[in-house]
Amino acid sequence: MKSQFQVDENGYYGQFGGAFIPELLFPNVQELEDNYLQIIESEEFQKEYKYLLKDYVGRPTPLYLAPRLSEKYGGTIYLKREDLNHTGAHKVNNTIGQILIAKKLGKKRIIAETGAGQHGVATATVCALMNIDCVVFMGEIDIKRQAPNVARMKMLGATVIPATSGSKTLKDATNEAIRDWIGNPEDTYYLIGSVVGPHPYPDMVGRLQAIISEEMKWQLKEKTGKENPDTVIACVGGGSNAAGAFYHYLDEKEVDLIAVEAAGLGVHSGESAATSQLGDVGVLHGSKTILMQDEYGQVVEPYSISAGLDYPGIGPLHAYLNESSRAIFMNATDQEALDAVYELTKLEGIIPALESAHALAVLDKMEIKNDQVIIVNLSGRGDKDLETYIKHLKDE
Ligand SMILES: *Cc1c(COP(=O)(O)O)cnc(C)c1O
Repeated sequence: MKSQFQVDENGYYGQFGGAFIPELLFPNVQELEDNYLQIIESEEFQKEYKYLLKDYVGRPTPLYLAPRLSEKYGGTIYLKREDLNHTGAHKVNNTIGQILIAKKLGKKRIIAETGAGQHGVATATVCALMNIDCVVFMGEIDIKRQAPNVARMKMLGATVIPATSGSKTLKDATNEAIRDWIGNPEDTYYLIGSVVGPHPYPDMVGRLQAIISEEMKWQLKEKTGKENPDTVIACVGGGSNAAGAFYHYLDEKEVDLIAVEAAGLGVHSGESAATSQLGDVGVLHGSKTILMQDEYGQVVEPYSISAGLDYPGIGPLHAYLNESSRAIFMNATDQEALDAVYELTKLEGIIPALESAHALAVLDKMEIKNDQVIIVNLSGRGDKDLETYIKHLKDE
């Protein structure tokens, strides 16, 4: 029987998902829907995908037993080290997979949008690797805020196009990308960076990130003899690292899944990105999900200290995991995340990304039993956040 947590034949998880797109985009999305599963499941794709994940990305990433963190919080705490991937986070698992799919579909040009620039860098990286043209749309304000990532994308050969309309941030970059895709339906592939967007993107990206929990399964078995951990914790922006970390545990009800959103200055401060707490049902980026919106249905600008969690919605799978209570949604504030950064650095000698630190921050809010086995998905490394860390170090 098909899992209730797998997308159904119409592209939905419960009431969430679907493809709410302009009619002009229908052929592009249909082409992808008609082909993605067959490509992903083919021997040829699996061989190349696994080869690149191993020799280019550096997988499998370790499942590291964090002894001093475990001593502090109780239980046995493992970190899934996605921070050790090439380019510094889990995002490359997805871009490697999608570039192979784009090539298989005969596409000659890749477009993407990016907010903080992390997905833009991961996309530009695989385009350099495959020698494919890459155009990244980015809000004009974000271009100014994220200069190092813009420089990286340019070094990698990508063209970065500023989105100058609206708030000049991520949603405006998304609009520009969609406009470009409508204008270039034949040769262009739209590479989306999280489990968001119209069906089949959420399912496709989830499958490409599922390598995270596929490895966790055999690694935990090897280390402990146990089939499953008791708890898996991951941060949620759009939801791709969490989808990957949860994927192979979705039907194993004894495994608690904890999704952690960014509370910014506090859930009810007006400066937050805790979508599950503040959002309502609506359509965002081509799918029905929950999103932060005002009384007129206009998207509310989210806020988090961490650029990767600063997103006004969550993917449709997560909306369903929340509604069905399969996952427990928690949150952490900017300050709690910063505290978790300095703590992990001192206790384990690992500087995490700000996003990942939100997942670490909830350890302090849980009642952990002595025999509890917990895996925290450490989605990325902290190099990109060093400027923020230096600033707050002075305040300490
Ligand atoms: C982009 C990013 C995230 C958030 O994206 P998801 O799709 O929710 O995983 C989390 N952690 C890091 C390190 C990121 O770069």
